[in-house]
Amino acid sequence: MTRTVLISGASVAGPVLAYWLHRAGDAVTVVEKASAPRSGGYPIDVRGTALDVLGRMGLLPRLREAHIDLRRITFLQGDGSRVAALHPHAISGGVEGRDLEVRRGDLTEALHEAVRDDVEFLFDDSIATLDQHDHGVDVTFHSGAARTFDVVVAADGTHSRTRELVFGPEEQFHRYLGYCFGIFTMRNTFGLSHETVMWNAPGKAAALYATGNDDEVHAFLNFALPQPPFDAFGDLAAQRDLVTSVFADAGWEIPGMLTALRGAEDLFFDAVSQIRMPHWSSGRVAVVGDAAYAPSFLTGQGTSLALVGAYMLAGGLTGQDHAEGFRRYEHSTREFVTLNQDLVGKGGATLFPTTAQDLERRNERLRGLSALPPAQGRDAHSALTLPEFAMTKQRLRYLAES
Ligand SMILES: Cc1cc2nc3c(=O)[nH]c(=O)nc-3n(C[C@H](O)[C@H](O)[C@H](O)COP(=O)(O)OP(=O)(O)OC[C@H]3O[C@@H](n4cnc5c(N)ncnc54)[C@H](O)[C@@H]3O)c2cc1C
Repeated sequence: MTRTVLISGASVAGPVLAYWLHRAGDAVTVVEKASAPRSGGYPIDVRGTALDVLGRMGLLPRLREAHIDLRRITFLQGDGSRVAALHPHAISGGVEGRDLEVRRGDLTEALHEAVRDDVEFLFDDSIATLDQHDHGVDVTFHSGAARTFDVVVAADGTHSRTRELVFGPEEQFHRYLGYCFGIFTMRNTFGLSHETVMWNAPGKAAALYATGNDDEVHAFLNFALPQPPFDAFGDLAAQRDLVTSVFADAGWEIPGMLTALRGAEDLFFDAVSQIRMPHWSSGRVAVVGDAAYAPSFLTGQGTSLALVGAYMLAGGLTGQDHAEGFRRYEHSTREFVTLNQDLVGKGGATLFPTTAQDLERRNERLRGLSALPPAQGRDAHSALTLPEFAMTKQRLRYLAES
């Protein structure tokens, strides 16, 4: 009998899992609380093994056209003077000509289009309750509908509600990394193009990120905070106040950024954190992507882990019952995930020192780096060789012939 699968979340991990499970013969439903795939958004990187997932879906040519091609990152001291100007890959460990950097919306749109005709999408809805038993999972939706599925997968991000319903409160899995950040768009009055400028003071960073020659830049404000600001989560006014008070005395372009923050409608604020879970499944329910193993933007690997994890979960389930499928998924993927989560503390992650001494040491390191991009990426990015599963073979034959 055809297996029925419900996936919660239609961003990166959800559509990729849906795409491959459909090819494996499952009947897939994706529920997404937003009214459509989210467009726009900050730029994200795809590197190493994750590029092969997009390649096997036939999406690389389209996404290469959407590549942002960031050419320079310039670091400034607290007084606005220049520390160093580098190729961004010198920091991120990316590989020129191979790695992808695209607007998040361009990726999610491409993924959605690749699967929307083959599986059922329920937008503007979400899971209200889950009840597992021997023969399936009874699900009620906030819309009032009630259905039973053989398997449910949480692909609904770092603060996954589905994970909470099955595995319990987020605190058990949340690893706070000591920073908070806000990101929003503002007018590009700086003449920046295909580049980032980042200002640092101890425990504070402000960046302007111009993805192209457009009129907007992504403004990014990151700061150290010993405890997560629980009161500010879910409270936009409190988030604005917190960021404004932290950066109140800062120079450079920050006063203008704070003015823009006041009027920004797209502020995204969160703690910098990871999700680390001892198990990625419980009965008939599994987790994937940020819901299972968000690595934080400090690693730049969240999207890549979501792509690879979704492919490996679908592959694990192919031809197997859910228990064996989930076991295979975790067995084959955990080491790759851990290696990438452990990148925190290396490379890009050391960009935000909290003391004057550490900042000076970082600046010395940056001055010593070659302005040229490295020839090779970090080992962790490619630490898993993507297996071929039954679901992949037909697809690879088609791509080879077309
Ligand atoms: C500022 C910033 C910069 C980043 N930079 C990078 C980078 O350079 N490189 C990189 O690889 N990654 C980066 N990331 C991380 C990257 O965005 C995520 O790792 C990636 O999007 C994870 O995909 P996902 O599908 O697992 O989850 P998400 O993208 O978080 O998607 C979750 C989806 O579930 C939906 N949802 C949420 N709750 C519910 C619910 N209850 N019911 C139904 N649907 C729900 C959401 O609307 C969303 O569509 C960055 C993240 C941030 C915030």
